[in-house]
Amino acid sequence: MLDDRMKKYRFFLFDLDRTLWDFDTNAHDSVVMLLEQYQLGNRIDDFEQFYRLYTEHNFRLWEQYEKGILSQSVLRCLRFEVTFQDFGINDPQLAAQFGAAYLELLPLRTALMPHTKEVLEHLLAKGCRMGIISNGFKQVQYTKLERSGIRDYFERVFISEEVGVHKPHPDIFRAAVTAFNAKKSDTVMVGDDFAKDIEGAQVFGIDQFFYNPLHIPCNGGPTYESDTLLDLIKLA
Ligand SMILES: [Mg+2]
Repeated sequence: MLDDRMKKYRFFLFDLDRTLWDFDTNAHDSVVMLLEQYQLGNRIDDFEQFYRLYTEHNFRLWEQYEKGILSQSVLRCLRFEVTFQDFGINDPQLAAQFGAAYLELLPLRTALMPHTKEVLEHLLAKGCRMGIISNGFKQVQYTKLERSGIRDYFERVFISEEVGVHKPHPDIFRAAVTAFNAKKSDTVMVGDDFAKDIEGAQVFGIDQFFYNPLHIPCNGGPTYESDTLLDLIKLA
């Protein structure tokens, strides 16, 4: 895959969810825990099915949020409201409570993607400077970083809610490179989402490391592609 003679970088910009923080494990465990806590076993016979349907609704509604069609507060409730409806439960109030409880519980979960701490530790020891560029809610993303024990690796954190634009908008990458006073040619963006992380960084004009553990096909090759974060060590 990548060999040891690759170009070296000084500035590493990381996506958070599904790149460092294991969003899918943490989200699944949070939803199942809450279904148990709300004692919904008698109304929902298959918690795994509930979670699958929830992820489909959430994906679709999140796209609408990113386009500005839905507000943050509507998204938070509606994604559970429509999933409850799939199980014959029409209860907007329950959905609102559940949605709020989910957002409190989720960022407290601490599962990380394989080799996250090992790689961050190595980059830090090599003198690399690191930042986060994440689409999401400010408080939620900061809590994830703190609780999972990786906040201190990052000098700067750029959350779309704070910056005012979402990835793939070039301005969020520009904000990071400017804040670090970095050269574009010394900077690499690391992310799992081809359209948001990789194409966004391409348009802005920095190199990209496509972390692709599921081997999702992509067009318009990234600078680097790997199914393991360990390959980042070769770029430091
Ligand atoms: Mg991601």
